[in-house]
This record gives sequence, C-alpha cells and structure tokens, in this order.
Amino acid sequence: MHDDTLLVTAGRAPEQNHGAVNPPIYRASTILYPSVAALEAPRSLRGVSYGRSGVPTTFALEDAVATLEGGHGAVVTGSGKTAICQALTSFLQAGDHLLMVDSTYGPTRQFCDRVLARFGVETTYYDPLIGAEIAGLIRPNTKIVYVESPGSQTFEIQDVPAIAAVAHANGALVMLDNTWATPLYFKAFEHGVDISIHAATKYIGGHSDLMMGIAVAAEPVFAQLRHGMQDQGAYASPDDCFQALRGLRTMAIRLERHHRTGLRLAEWLQARPEVARVLHPALPEDPGHQLWRRDFKGASGLFGVILQPCSKAAVAAMLDGLELFGMGYSWGGFESLVIPTQPEKLRTATTWAPGGPCLRFHAGLEDADDLIADLAAGFARLRQAA
Ligand SMILES: *Cc1c(COP(=O)(O)O)cnc(C)c1O
Repeated sequence: MHDDTLLVTAGRAPEQNHGAVNPPIYRASTILYPSVAALEAPRSLRGVSYGRSGVPTTFALEDAVATLEGGHGAVVTGSGKTAICQALTSFLQAGDHLLMVDSTYGPTRQFCDRVLARFGVETTYYDPLIGAEIAGLIRPNTKIVYVESPGSQTFEIQDVPAIAAVAHANGALVMLDNTWATPLYFKAFEHGVDISIHAATKYIGGHSDLMMGIAVAAEPVFAQLRHGMQDQGAYASPDDCFQALRGLRTMAIRLERHHRTGLRLAEWLQARPEVARVLHPALPEDPGHQLWRRDFKGASGLFGVILQPCSKAAVAAMLDGLELFGMGYSWGGFESLVIPTQPEKLRTATTWAPGGPCLRFHAGLEDADDLIADLAAGFARLRQAA
C-alpha cells in the first residue's frame, strides 16, 4: 500500500471499537485481571498490563508510525527529547563509545555531555559531511553511530547509507533523529538505520498543542528498545496519543504544503540582497541537494538563512515587527515561525563561520504570498535600522 493509504488505515480497528472510526482514548492506570493465573502470566511486549506500559490508544499510534516508516515496532514517550535519551540509554553502558554528529539538536548534545559522560559513555562528535570516512573514528567499543539529517539549524544532509554501512561492518548500531523528514520523507529502514526517532511534537502532532516522542526500531533491536525504554518509565498520555494519531492522518497533505511554501520562501529569500545564503536541501544550489534527491521523498517546512552582516538591532527590527511569523521554539505546527540561531555555539568537531546573523524559518500553512509580503516589510525595517 502507498503512504497516503497507510496514513488513513494504519493503527485503526473500528470492528473492535463499536464501529468508531478512531480508536478511543483509554484512560487507565490500574488494569484489572480476572484471576491469579492471568495476573501472573508472562507479559507480552505490548500487552495491556498497567497504564504506564501502554493502552490500546498508545499501541494504535505506535503501530501506525511503525507501519508508515517500515520499522518493526515503535515506543512512544512524553517528548522527543525523552525518546532520544531513553533510546540511547537502552543500548549504551559504561565503557561504550558514541559517535554523535556535530550538527545534532542542542539538547541531544547536552545529554551526551552532561549525562552520558557521568555514566562512563564517551562521545566523539563528527563532521556531518564525513560520509564513509567515519571509519577512521570507529573504535572497538563504538556502540552507536548517531545521525541527524539534515543537521539542526544548519541543514547539512548526511550520507546515511554510507555511514550505516561502516557502522554495521564494525558492529555498531545506527540511530537517527528523523524529525525533520518524518516517516514520510525519509524511509529510515531502507537506508540502514536501526532506530529512528521522531519528535512527534512537530509534524506528527502538527498543531502546536502536544509534546511527544516516538522511537521506531528494526526487528532485531525492537525488544531491547521496548524493554529499555519501559525500564526508564517511558510514557505518553492516551489523550496525547489520540491527538498525535489525529495529526498523523493529515500529515501527508500538510507536509506537501509545508514543502511547497518552504521552498517558495527559500527561493524568494535567496534572491534578496539582504541574504547571503539559504540553507535548504531542496534548493539545487545547496551542497546537500544531490544526497537529498537520492534519499528523501520531500522537504519539510524548516530551513535556515544566513543574512549579510548586519547589527543585532537590525535583525530585531525585522523580526519584532513580523505579523504572520511567530517567534518561539519548536516547529511543525500549522503556523509560520522564525527565530535567530547561533549554530557556532553548538559545534566542537567542526567550525561554523557563517559571516552574518543566522535565522531559522518554519513555513506554515498560510498563503505564501502573504508570508512573502510580511518578510518584505521585515527587510524594509531591517534596512531602515541598519
Ligand atoms: C524538537 C526536536 C526534538 C525534541 O523534541 P521535543 O518533543 O521538543 O522534546 C528533537 N530533535 C529535533 C530535531 C527537534 O527539532
């Protein structure tokens, strides 16, 4: 079946729910057992046994996302960050070595530096453009090679299949933060990824009203992921699972528009004199474009811009007066957003010297012409303040 059909059918069982189209919200902590024998029977990987370990609403979402991405199974938890941290600690132990991409999401880096280090796991950051040369960084104790493509804030596309081939040849697992592309636009398991993680807070939820993380695993590592995350108390509320499922149903049509509007804004921005460079892998000029075309099925609405050198006050004059672009963290909802970024502060293995202020845009579902008019007025304010 094609993705559009899977999005509609996966994780639904109307015949088990009185014909209701959507799986109901099961709110439960205690689950009652009819007998001592049932209470003491061995638990299956995804049976309903206690509220924390999942109810049918949870499993419906997990099934839908795993099916869509082509993984064996998924585990949901309360935020994207928790999914990343719990997935890492489900496989790492003291004495292990982790290869982490230098362009990773900032809070992922913090977890490696502040928490994994304390538990005796050593992290080496690597250049996102390293490709097969990652072989030179592999050690006998390298347990995980972590990729994120495109990179957070800087949008480099990684050669995930080349990196995965080296990792597997050396007995390491490949873990991916696939939030930007979603299960629709990067088929993680066709590119050698073992565990793919999503901040469902972003496009899966899609409406800026919930926090959730989902880790999807290939068959050989699913049981360890499920047990490892359950050992750490992984949990997402059934209400939020219901909301995430509702978001998922329309994700394909939303993403198409995010892609189209994002690219339109990127092209328009690229032609502006105030802009030095646009960081968007779907632009033919982008250094990651060939890899993006080879491996991805689309682009989401998130991309970066490097402005020509100008003052902080000029940037603030531009951003403060925007009417349609909100300023705030997170992204993936229906609304457009922009924030100033400082990627150079999140680098240790490589240098990032943009030569001008950096912005990160999220193209929402508004009309593209209205968004462009808002930005044009912003550039007029920037020039006036400069
Ligand atoms: C937002 C985000 C996360 C974290 O998700 P939360 O649900 O906010 O914890 C992880 N990775 C990427 C790439 C993100 O953008």
